[in-house]
Amino acid sequence: MKKELLRAEKINTIGELAASIAHEIRNPLTVVKGFLQLNSERKEGQLAYIPIMLEELGRAEAIINDYLNVSRPKLEKIERFELAPMMANMKILLDPLANIEGVILLSDLDEGLYLETDRARLQQALINLIKNAIEATPSGGVVTLRLKRRGHEGVITIADTGRGMSEGELSRLGTLFYSTKEKGTGLGTSVSLRIIEMMHGQISFKSELNVGTEITVVLPLQQDVRPSKAKLGGVG
Ligand code: ADP
Ligand code: MG
Repeated sequence: MKKELLRAEKINTIGELAASIAHEIRNPLTVVKGFLQLNSERKEGQLAYIPIMLEELGRAEAIINDYLNVSRPKLEKIERFELAPMMANMKILLDPLANIEGVILLSDLDEGLYLETDRARLQQALINLIKNAIEATPSGGVVTLRLKRRGHEGVITIADTGRGMSEGELSRLGTLFYSTKEKGTGLGTSVSLRIIEMMHGQISFKSELNVGTEITVVLPLQQDVRPSKAKLGGVG
């Protein structure tokens, strides 16, 4: 399998350039959405297109939020948390999607690995990657989530038995707006790359056409600084 380490630099310039535009668009969208919501309550049944408009506006809003995340990402709420329960929770969130696609989601998670970072952001980064894995995998296939300790690092792998990517596709992955999906935004991977980079982590992809893809995310672990009972002088 060919291995490629992705660098987020390739999206910096264009990301920064458009950040201000994206920010300006988000505000009017939010206002229009608010008015439409009011309208749909008052004239229920008359304006059947309103739910569609709301859905499309919601989609535009999601794209812009993703876009802002790529170009101006921020870690907001920093907290200490254990990785295994967070990943188990993500599996629960994504099981319905896997079910719809006929994909089996498996997990093998080491316990006792702690991080100190923005939990919601990390979850967002991983969910983008796992969603891609599920979407690339045909019915009957498997997506496996693993979490292992490697020294002072946590190693997360997301392996799928999906369609895989050619070398050309692999080299375009993480480029803004690159998507092979009919309704894809081509932003998910870019968002994930930026978030992992901000967390001083590394991300790499191995893929083989018609065999599958394995994504590896390596994150620096938080050392367990709490003194153990033994160190405090207690016995037993
Ligand atoms: P989107 O999912 O909206 O298309 P992404 O940035 O998340 O945007 O992914 C970009 C493209 O990379 C996808 O359209 C797909 O072609 C490819 N891709 C990403 N992950 C995988 C994977 N696990 N297996 C095969 N192709 C993938
Ligand atoms: Mg995606």
